[in-house]
Amino acid sequence: MENIKEQLIDIKLLFDEPLSNYTFTKTGGLADVIAFPKSIEEVEKIVKYAVENNVDWLVLGNASNLIVRDGGIRGIVIILTEMNQITVNNNLVTADAGASLIETTKVAREESLTGMEFACGIPGSIGGAVYMNAGAYGGEIKDCFKEAKVLFENGEVKTLTKEDMDFGYRHSSIQSEKCVILNATFELKKGNKVEISAKMEELTELRESKQPLEYPSCGSVFKRPKGHYTGPLIIEAGLQGKIIGGAQVSTKHAGFIVNINHATATDYIELIEFIQKTIKEKYDIILETEVRIIGEQ
Ligand code: FAD
Repeated sequence: MENIKEQLIDIKLLFDEPLSNYTFTKTGGLADVIAFPKSIEEVEKIVKYAVENNVDWLVLGNASNLIVRDGGIRGIVIILTEMNQITVNNNLVTADAGASLIETTKVAREESLTGMEFACGIPGSIGGAVYMNAGAYGGEIKDCFKEAKVLFENGEVKTLTKEDMDFGYRHSSIQSEKCVILNATFELKKGNKVEISAKMEELTELRESKQPLEYPSCGSVFKRPKGHYTGPLIIEAGLQGKIIGGAQVSTKHAGFIVNINHATATDYIELIEFIQKTIKEKYDIILETEVRIIGEQ
C-alpha cells in the first residue's frame, strides 16, 4: 500500500490506528489504514484502490455491534462517520450511511413523523442498522425501510428495495455481500409530535433502567434462541457476574458483556465461548452471537 497516500490524496487516512478508539467495547487491535471518506465519490475511490491493488477492505459504522480481535485488521477499514447528512422529503427520511440512527429518529420527531421511535436508543449508524436490521421494543428497521443505495465491489451502485434486502431477525441479504451501504431512505407516517416525543422518552427510560449504559459494551451479545430469552437463561446457568480478564457478564442485564477493567477482545471472546459452552452443556441450546467478531487473532 506504499502508493495509498498519493492515490487517495484528498481523503483522511490514519495508519496503524488502534480500533479500540472506535469500538463501543473499547477493545480491538490496530487497523493498517482507516479511511474517512466525505462523499460517495470518495468511497468509490477507496474501494477501487483496494480492488486494483489487491488490498482487503471492510466498512464499519459506529462499531457498536462489533468485536475486533486483538490482532486488528489488515488492509483498509472504511469509517463513514463523516458522511452524515439527513434530509426529509414529505414522509421520507433519507440518511447517509454514517449518520447516527439516534440522530435520525430525532429529525423524524422534529418533522412529526412516526415509525422510527423504536430506534431512538440504538447507538448504531444508518449503515450498521440496515445491515443488522436493528430492532428494539417491537420495531425493526424492516418496518420503516424503503430503499438503500449500495456500492458493490465491482463498482456498481444499486438501489435495493425492501424485497432485495430479505430482512430477518438481525439479518439482511447484504450480510453475504461485499458492499457499502451509502445511504438509506425510510418511509414514515405523519404523526403527533407530542405523542412521538412521549414514546421516545418512555423507551429511553426503559433502556436506561435495564441496560448497563454506564460501561462500554456491544449491546446484546447473543441472538435470542427460539423459545427462550438469553438474559434469564444466562442467569439460570449461574453465569451472571462471571468475569474473564476485564470483561464481565453484566450484573444489570445478563445479555450484555461489559468492559469493567481494560478488557481485551480476547477476554470478550473467551467469555462468550465460555457462556456458549455452558449453555450448550446445561440446556442443549446453541447461543449464536448477534455481535460480529472480526479481525485477526
Ligand atoms: P457496526 O457495529 O459498525 O457494524 C456492524 C456490521 O455492519 C459490520 O459487519 C459492518 O461491516 C457492517 N456495516 C456497518 N456499516 C455498514 C455500511 N455502511 N455498509 C455495509 N456494511 C456496514 N442493536 C439492536 O438491534 N437493538 C438494540 O436495542 C441495541 N441496543 C444496543 C445498546 C447498546 C448499549 C449497544 C452498545 C449496542 C446496541 N445494539 C442494538 C447493537 C448495535 O447498536 C446495532 O446492531 C447497530 O445497528 C450497529 O450499527 P453500527 O453502525 O454500530 O454497526
